[in-house]
Amino acid sequence: MQSSDVVIIGGGVAGLIAGIELVKNAKSVTILEKEPIVGGQCKTEVLKVGDDEFRFDYGGHRFITNNQKLLDFVEDILDDDLLSAQRSSVILHQGRVYQYPLNLKNLLRVAPLKLLLGATIDTLKIVFKMTKKDDTNFKTWISSRFGTSLYDNFFAPYTQKLWGVKPELLSSDWAGQRISLMDLKDVLKKLFARGEKTARTYARSYRYPKYGFGQLPLRMAKKFEELGGKIYTDEEVDSFDIADNKIEMIYTKNHTFQAKQIISTMPLNEMSQKLGFNSELKFRSLRFLCLGLDIENFSPHTWQYVSDYNLLPTRIQEPKRRSPFMSPASKSSIMLEIPCNKDDEIWKMNDEKLLEIVKKDLNKLNFNIEENIIDYFSFTTEHAYTMMDIDYNKRRDKTIKFLDRFENLTMAGRQGTFRYIFLDTAMETGLMAAELILGKNVSKEQIYNHRNEKIVIETKNIGE
Ligand SMILES: Cc1cc2nc3c(=O)[nH]c(=O)nc-3n(C[C@H](O)[C@H](O)[C@H](O)COP(=O)(O)OP(=O)(O)OC[C@H]3O[C@@H](n4cnc5c(N)ncnc54)[C@H](O)[C@@H]3O)c2cc1C
Repeated sequence: MQSSDVVIIGGGVAGLIAGIELVKNAKSVTILEKEPIVGGQCKTEVLKVGDDEFRFDYGGHRFITNNQKLLDFVEDILDDDLLSAQRSSVILHQGRVYQYPLNLKNLLRVAPLKLLLGATIDTLKIVFKMTKKDDTNFKTWISSRFGTSLYDNFFAPYTQKLWGVKPELLSSDWAGQRISLMDLKDVLKKLFARGEKTARTYARSYRYPKYGFGQLPLRMAKKFEELGGKIYTDEEVDSFDIADNKIEMIYTKNHTFQAKQIISTMPLNEMSQKLGFNSELKFRSLRFLCLGLDIENFSPHTWQYVSDYNLLPTRIQEPKRRSPFMSPASKSSIMLEIPCNKDDEIWKMNDEKLLEIVKKDLNKLNFNIEENIIDYFSFTTEHAYTMMDIDYNKRRDKTIKFLDRFENLTMAGRQGTFRYIFLDTAMETGLMAAELILGKNVSKEQIYNHRNEKIVIETKNIGE
């Protein structure tokens, strides 16, 4: 049996930053990671073709934060390997290319007349307050702020494809925090303000490691071990022994661990299940199809959102737009994000069949790269997105209430707290969990609701 002050379940960025903070403060810490390497959703996979390496994150990542301490930490860990990049995103919709976030000038230039007429009527209704903001669900949130024309054309098909359910069954929380758009009134203000500051800003520049985001957890793991922490990989936490409202023992298939305090960053639903409570919380999964290409550039854009419902991918990204070191010189690559559920048809489809479908989709989008594909592969992530259906928050609250009875357990991270948060916020929750254990003035409630504001989170980056 291995004993330490703290056991951290999960070697993603949240678990690793918690581990570093604790070992720095003289705690003995063990990280248990079920995969062969650390990093979780922040890993980078490599496609090797001869001497060439094409690198792909678990969905193109970028680092944006307004927390100077966190930025200093990441800059210190990655040193000269932390680059800056500019984001350029577009929406591909019914054969037309729109700028993202949507803006009025571009809509006027690109959109068909019918859509423009509908959007104009919607704008007048919103400006003259004939439409009231309605946060009942995703559909009402969007249509009461952007009108039904933009909702029907852009938001509804994309959202249904991404989540696999009708948008009216989704909570408005996702829209409130994740739609990187201003409402129509802000769009108008921006158009006529000529340089004046509008209500919200949108971060275009971001930080990115030279060889992909997987560099970050690997460097963090090195630092953690140098400071005396222990990492066990291939160690899936399986079950627990409980006594006096405390977790006494942690079991993996081959080993037993004991600790005074436990931080869990494994998915909240799985953690609660192992402790005897069925949370009924679900995740949406993703499959990433990655193609190495013998062309220098695929497009000038970082992200291309594919809103058409009948096309499989939701986004196409070109890793080279984040860092030129993501593909060999004079070559490029693309990654297609395809939403699915674990064990459904898309999840189980073989790579050849998936590529055939995607090639047809790319042709429909006017990307004729069939002859340029050098090689390809795919990988999946089961817990890509917390399923934010209408009642998810009630079920999340019940689950957290159940887990709160275990005095020496704190949850942290994206899956661990069941939140749709980016890596900066996931890291902050890991740090807060460490601070709680170190006796600082932090509560579990603060960790579980950290940065829960109903505002667009992607605001200006202090790293710009
Ligand atoms: C498609 C996509 C795009 C994204 N883009 C961005 C972006 O652009 N910018 C950004 O900032 N963030 C982005 N994110 C979010 C970011 O990846 C996460 O917020 C962050 O990586 C979460 O870290 P974590 O440590 O909380 O969780 P994870 O990385 O999930 O770590 C949890 C770890 O626990 C391990 N584990 C699970 N169960 C067990 C068990 N039973 N026993 C032991 N170990 C276990 C897992 O293997 C995993 O390593 C994106 C995420 C996705 C899915």
